[in-house]
Amino acid sequence: MNGKILVIEDNEQNLYLIRYILEDYGYEVYSAQDGKKGIETAVALLPDLILLDIQLPTMDGYAVARQLRQNPDLADTPIIAVTSYAMPGDREKAIGAGCSGYIEKPIDPDTFSSQVEQHLFTKRNRPGEP
Ligand code: MN
Repeated sequence: MNGKILVIEDNEQNLYLIRYILEDYGYEVYSAQDGKKGIETAVALLPDLILLDIQLPTMDGYAVARQLRQNPDLADTPIIAVTSYAMPGDREKAIGAGCSGYIEKPIDPDTFSSQVEQHLFTKRNRPGEP
């Protein structure tokens, strides 16, 4: 067992692909298909890492990230935005909302797990901390 990963993603095909890749690498994968359930699951599960789609129904990924960061138990959990938004400024917007990193869609099965691994043990840098 490599760690618990929560995937907040509304697209079933993306969810299937992410689960398939990460389970193959020994991760325990949990999922939620909207932001509200994602936050509830994150609070109950305290995962080692959260993969967060930005385009979600009702509540977008930025709002989800901001709420997750308000919970002290999740303050240092790596949150990786996974999004097809490739517009300039989106990375900054995700980081500004509290995400620790960014992976662009479409997901590349050959590099996805190493991208995730790279973030897994990287603590979030917070202003004012060494
Ligand atoms: Mn989506």
